[in-house]
Amino acid sequence: MGIEEFIRDIPDFPKPGIAFKDITPLLGNIDALRQCIKQLADPYRDSGVEVVVGVEARGFIFGSMLADELNVGFVPIRKPGKLPAETISESYELEYGTDTVEIHADAIAPGQKVLMCDDLIATGGTVEAACKLVQKLQGDIVGAVFVVELSFLPGRAKLEALGVATHSLMDVSGE
Ligand code: AMP
Repeated sequence: MGIEEFIRDIPDFPKPGIAFKDITPLLGNIDALRQCIKQLADPYRDSGVEVVVGVEARGFIFGSMLADELNVGFVPIRKPGKLPAETISESYELEYGTDTVEIHADAIAPGQKVLMCDDLIATGGTVEAACKLVQKLQGDIVGAVFVVELSFLPGRAKLEALGVATHSLMDVSGE
């Protein structure tokens, strides 16, 4: 059973020209979902990960299941204004304009080993900003995992520049 079977392309969503990778069929199949989580966790089982950090919103689903698989806690990174306690924030460029992500200022202890998680890496802008937040808190990022990687975009290279290795389960090499 390949993960690919459970991820469908929705053309022209959310706007014309975008092929949206819809992971909801994967969420709906518990066997495929468990297999996916195991495969995300496999390279990190002996790496001393202490916490998984997931990016709103689909990163919460995979990230919290991954945290359970690795028997560690979970930390959310959210859109602005959603986290109730003191936060730090990081902005990043979009095609038009900028976006911002936030983390609780006390969510990561200095030196803590962190595994980043999201459903998909495209340009890498979102997870790059997320990694910068963790690095501001002096977390030690051991890797970043994704179900899908759009490898025709420079996401992996962006993370490499931050010293973060990427692990993905499904490679999409063309638009
Ligand atoms: P990026 O910052 O460009 O790497 O975009 C990553 C974020 O946008 C992830 O949280 C994805 O969920 C979402 N995303 C970007 N492109 C797609 C796509 N083609 N299909 C599904 N989700 C996408």
